[in-house]
Amino acid sequence: MDPTFETRWSQFSAKKQAYLAYARPMEQKVGSFLTYRPDVEAPQAGALQGLPFAVKDNIAVKNFPLTCGSRMLETLVSPYTATAVARLQAAGAVVIGKTNLDEFGMGSSTDLSALGKTNNPWDFSRVAGGSSGGSAAAAAAGLVSFALGTDTGGSVRQPASFCGVYGLKPTYGTVSRYGMTAYASSLEVMGIASKSLALTEKVYGVMKGRDPHDQTSLDPAPGVARAVKTIAVLDGLTDLEPAVQRAYEATLDHLKALGYRLLPVHLGTLDYAVPAYYTIATAEASANLARFNGIRYGLRPEYAENPEDLIRKSRTAGFGDEVKIRIMLGTYVLRSGFQDQYYTKAQKVRTAIRNDLQKVFDQADLLMTPTFPTRAFVHGDRSMTPYQQKLADKFTVTANLAGIPALSFPAGLEEGLPVGMQFMAPAFEEGRLFEAAAKFATRVAAPDCPGTSLDWSK
Ligand code: GLN
Repeated sequence: MDPTFETRWSQFSAKKQAYLAYARPMEQKVGSFLTYRPDVEAPQAGALQGLPFAVKDNIAVKNFPLTCGSRMLETLVSPYTATAVARLQAAGAVVIGKTNLDEFGMGSSTDLSALGKTNNPWDFSRVAGGSSGGSAAAAAAGLVSFALGTDTGGSVRQPASFCGVYGLKPTYGTVSRYGMTAYASSLEVMGIASKSLALTEKVYGVMKGRDPHDQTSLDPAPGVARAVKTIAVLDGLTDLEPAVQRAYEATLDHLKALGYRLLPVHLGTLDYAVPAYYTIATAEASANLARFNGIRYGLRPEYAENPEDLIRKSRTAGFGDEVKIRIMLGTYVLRSGFQDQYYTKAQKVRTAIRNDLQKVFDQADLLMTPTFPTRAFVHGDRSMTPYQQKLADKFTVTANLAGIPALSFPAGLEEGLPVGMQFMAPAFEEGRLFEAAAKFATRVAAPDCPGTSLDWSK
């Protein structure tokens, strides 16, 4: 047994009392969890021993619900545990709950959950972002030391930026997708939200690596050890909310002051990233969500004339509007005779984006962009149309289309709300993200959310 186990466990028990007194009222205001079981037993010894963590409710944890934020799966309890979660548990970390999300991971606010409402811990009238909004909010509010999310098009990074925490989207395939409910399989990976950068790195170290249950998983190639010197930045960046623009310019100044060379680059493909992403993501979603039909899984109507009627009734009542729109869109872009016009074209754009980024990384060690063009918006904000909201995903979806790692890091507060910036690196070069973010943190540390008193990273 780890010789420090006894001491660490007694610390954990002492913290637990303080934790429960603090966390329950805090959680009532934030609403990060769909299932919350903080009164946990003694954890196993290991590198992450005694660290409570949360898991987005589209990732399987045995004996916990697995709702995906959907009426469709409201009563489903998972009979098994995702590989990445099992690895964290084996290292001593403890699951204390399942967090809220936009239904099946489709959205950017967590307001599209059918099962709960999550508020931004910085301002309860605002959204936590999404789709992993519950995870980012729980990490920011000090309810967990870290939280797992899934990132198909920015769903870990964007809520991390809204809540003032780190958000890592690893290289595609380096974390097993076994136990993660598929939305768009070729784009997504599990990621981490945490107030602690060091812990984010440690947790990634435990989660990553090949898993026989996921044929697309792989052992990350060892990164090329080299210090980050040159950071590419987008030439002529526009369309940012003024507060984000200010934070972006301040970040450029900090990076210069830290001795980095900033290299302006033009990414001609950036404007095509969102259409390509939504074509591919909806196409894959329409196939992935076909399994939810009320027969093997999901909501079952009380009465049906025949199997076809059962499926129709189950899907009509089980899925929310956004999910239905995406299934229809995906079916539309894949319909026979029209694949070339949409899906194949989107795949070509995807290759072009990958090549464009490769050229950037030939000249620079990292690429830096804002994570999202706005700070956290208020619930029910109608100032952006649903189309504009999707366009705002352009900085994040780029990394998913290319399969490369990206990290959203807290870049300070603007009028009391956090703003996040994002580093992207070539595949398997997570080390560069951590290195540069750690250096940046020597000038701008992750902010303390008002009212939070517990820091599990210490
Ligand atoms: N906002 C994006 C979408 O709605 C990202 C979702 C995600 O990464 N799961 O598809």
